[in-house]
Amino acid sequence: LLGSDGSVRATVFAEMSALAARTGAINLGQGFPDVDGPASVAQAASDAIAAGANQYPPGPGIPELRRAIADHQRRHYGLYPDPDREVLVTTGATEALAAAVLALVGPGDEVLTLEPFYDSYAAVIAMAGAVHTTAALRATPDGFRLDEAALAAAFSDRTRVVLLNTPHNPTGTVLTRDELAVVARFAQQHDAIVLTDEVYEHLTLAGAAGRPEHVPIATLPGMAERTLTVSSAGKTLSFTGWKVGWVSGPEHLVTAVRTVKQFLTYVSGAPFQPAVAFALGDPGVAAWVDELAASLASRRDLLCDGLTAAGFAVVRPQGTYFVLADAAGLGYADGAALCRDLPALAGVVGVPVTAFTHDGSSADRELRSWVRFTFVKRESVLREAVERLAALR
Ligand code: PMP
Ligand code: GLN
Repeated sequence: LLGSDGSVRATVFAEMSALAARTGAINLGQGFPDVDGPASVAQAASDAIAAGANQYPPGPGIPELRRAIADHQRRHYGLYPDPDREVLVTTGATEALAAAVLALVGPGDEVLTLEPFYDSYAAVIAMAGAVHTTAALRATPDGFRLDEAALAAAFSDRTRVVLLNTPHNPTGTVLTRDELAVVARFAQQHDAIVLTDEVYEHLTLAGAAGRPEHVPIATLPGMAERTLTVSSAGKTLSFTGWKVGWVSGPEHLVTAVRTVKQFLTYVSGAPFQPAVAFALGDPGVAAWVDELAASLASRRDLLCDGLTAAGFAVVRPQGTYFVLADAAGLGYADGAALCRDLPALAGVVGVPVTAFTHDGSSADRELRSWVRFTFVKRESVLREAVERLAALR
């Protein structure tokens, strides 16, 4: 986790945001909205501070937020976690994932992820001393899809946890029920626990074939008892800086995560918890989230069309904040080198997709010339970025 000179190595997101700040380029690297979430939710946090929610809250999270999370799982997916024993509030999804991996695996165990994978997965699997195996998603005319053969090859009798992510960062793939059934079958055969990162659960984006359905793998037959489901308020509510996340699943697994969480952060931010509890139950906020998803779909189209016009080959994402674009057609074989030069060439910052792959893997080789761009920026900002990118041609 350290740089070659022993220094703390910045995450690719911090590095690219610093590059944007230094050069004045438009930051389409790190995925965070440039417009905040609903004012009513921000007001609820201010009200909570004024009302004195300023000391340590309960370790598992305040009861009203745990109830709101359980209600959310029931309303949206027909899942019935017990708010007192099967729901844990965490400091963002990042902590939920880290605490779960640290709780569930150790040296000798394997954690299987899709590849490319969100960067914190590799770091926390390494911290746990476990081995990180991957199943590459394959580029197809339908986007990046699960490859059953790659998945079968990645499983072994040491696979303890499958760390899944749908909607998927960085590809924007929303895994179908059929794809999830394949994962479920292998997890059951190998008696593996599924840890599923669903932070973009509400950010599925309508396309020609309608709006893809987000399916939690915990809803598949026989899976609730072996699945920990993770989500977060950051993406759903456009408050990424609040860092309120959660995990739900069977009591013995949630208890294991809670045991680790106690010694990572002890508790999570007091005033944000009542605000998120309010947000999860409020119909006005739910309508706001639907509008966000609709506007993200049109912003996705704007950026995809602009990237295509600039000479990139894009795979139109079905969800998340991100699109992957191949620069090979523009004559750039190395996406990382292009990302370093992009501020000077076009005044835009992106993230090389190799930040989400293992050096030398098949996905790494296939995605070498690819760049991830975010479209969770105001339309005016995206229009300016698209104009600038046209200079690449
Ligand atoms: N998982 C994925 C796939 C993400 O994209 C992110 C946010 N960038 C996280 C987890 C982290 O979420 P949080 O900010 O709630 O820790
Ligand atoms: N999840 C966001 C991204 O993928 C940013 C998260 C971070 O900075 N760690 O860009």
